[in-house]
Amino acid sequence: MLPIVALVGRPNVGKSTLFNRLLRKSRAITHDLPGVTRDRIYGECQMGDVKFDLVDTGGMVLESEATPELSKDFEDEIFEQAREAINEAHAILFVVDGKQGMSPLDEQAAEFVRRSGKPVMVLVNKVDSHEVAAQGTAEFHALGLPVFPVSAAHGYNLHEVREKVRRFV
Ligand code: GDP
Ligand code: MG
Repeated sequence: MLPIVALVGRPNVGKSTLFNRLLRKSRAITHDLPGVTRDRIYGECQMGDVKFDLVDTGGMVLESEATPELSKDFEDEIFEQAREAINEAHAILFVVDGKQGMSPLDEQAAEFVRRSGKPVMVLVNKVDSHEVAAQGTAEFHALGLPVFPVSAAHGYNLHEVREKVRRFV
């Protein structure tokens, strides 16, 4: 069994985009593990000499269903998924949206993540260039967790994220 690194965070922050980018670069193959819910997608990652399973938790909703106005049931479902992913993970990549800024759901999710006591890095995604990095990340320092700006779509800081993940798995 490889160590597991889980991507968690609310819908539309860019978890799946990050998942694909991190896997592609390490030429990993996605696969299903027996006995795990099919809602989570696993991909084997190799970064240097470090090997782990990266988990994308976004699969529980169709992207078209992900709206900012979340129903209570939908929120519960997200939290159940996140809880399970956090429980089985060795380390957590908590993804937030640096364009949209902090949401109450982020604060709740951060609380779960903190309570797990596991190594965690807050990836502030959609920070599409160096110029907006400080501005995009500023308010997320309030979560009391290590914060790192990144752009899954444009590749900003992805190399640095790989280096950091390698060291914290
Ligand atoms: P998930 O629901 O958390 O898995 O989010 P997705 O990976 O599906 O991405 C949600 C939306 O955000 C999509 O339209 C992506 O193209 C967009 N997105 C993802 N990463 C970035 C980024 O780094 N910058 C910008 N501007 N958009 C992004
Ligand atoms: Mg997704």
